[in-house]
Amino acid sequence: MLGILILAAALFALGWAFGVSLRARLAVLGTIWAGMVLAHLAMPADAPFRVSTGGDVRPWLVLALVVLALWGYRAGLRRLRARAVKHEAAHSPAQKQPLFSEAELNRYARHMILREVGGPGQRALKQAKVLVIGAGGLGSPALLYLAAAGVGTIGVIDDDGVEASNLQRQIIHTDLTIGMPKVFSAQEQMEALNPFIRVKPYHRRLDEETARALFAEYDLILDGTDNFDTRFLVNRIAVETRTPLIAAAITQWEGQISLYDPARGGPCYRCVFPERPADGLAPSCAEAGVIAPLPGVLGSMMALEAVKQLTGAGATLRGAMLIYDGLYGESRRITLKQRPDCPVCNRVHDETAP
Ligand SMILES: [Zn+2]
Repeated sequence: MLGILILAAALFALGWAFGVSLRARLAVLGTIWAGMVLAHLAMPADAPFRVSTGGDVRPWLVLALVVLALWGYRAGLRRLRARAVKHEAAHSPAQKQPLFSEAELNRYARHMILREVGGPGQRALKQAKVLVIGAGGLGSPALLYLAAAGVGTIGVIDDDGVEASNLQRQIIHTDLTIGMPKVFSAQEQMEALNPFIRVKPYHRRLDEETARALFAEYDLILDGTDNFDTRFLVNRIAVETRTPLIAAAITQWEGQISLYDPARGGPCYRCVFPERPADGLAPSCAEAGVIAPLPGVLGSMMALEAVKQLTGAGATLRGAMLIYDGLYGESRRITLKQRPDCPVCNRVHDETAP
């Protein structure tokens, strides 16, 4: 038997030396083994060939079992090692630490049980970066709800200071913060509300250069400013940087809100408001007045639309405008279309069209 095994090993080695494939060499070994088993089964027990090759079929069967066991052991080891590598890749150092602490899980529990948000939605909120332009009437509730909802990074830009006449509707500020820059007053309240978020205050006026640098850093822009020049600027840079923009506006008893995101379909702000209105036709809150809870309604809607945009829940206001009339308690929704001759988004849209 030993002689046959040595012969087989020699054949195997010779095959290797001549570059015969492993499969072919294994086939030769298998054939020799099968031949030996057949010979032992077919020949009489005292045949010289049988006597010289072990005398019995059993050692050959045992040999096959040993080889099979060794092969199975190696395959099992290889599978275990592959699984360990995969496990390690899935739990690389970046993800080893859980994203949420116990305190955060408890804080966001009412979100987590919503089918449309859940764990993945809350994770998306935590990883999101949202920039709010203006810490005034619309910015106040928007910032507070973004903070409360757990949006991980919230930027706020405003060059104004808190005045007593703001406090009738700008509820993120308090009597104690009169005179303080609005962005720092807002930061204080947001961090007091939710210490698990990061607030980035920018105490400056939004100009073209600042907008371009800032918008590129954020996933979503919320515009709550009250003058057309800033709105046009925000829209233009948002389109340029392909950043979705949620813009709302209020006056007296009425407000409107939409999501402008021409890079992913629908119009931009300029498609809907092509011309700057003549002075006096679109009076600001200071000129025309505004009822206290109205910015609360529209600013909260901005935060709600932001959460939907970031988590993918429901349907956003892309291509639609919601108009709310507080005086008569009515709301309506109109469809918005991209203007083919829009000077801001039309070219960008053409470039991204398939
Ligand atoms: Zn446009």
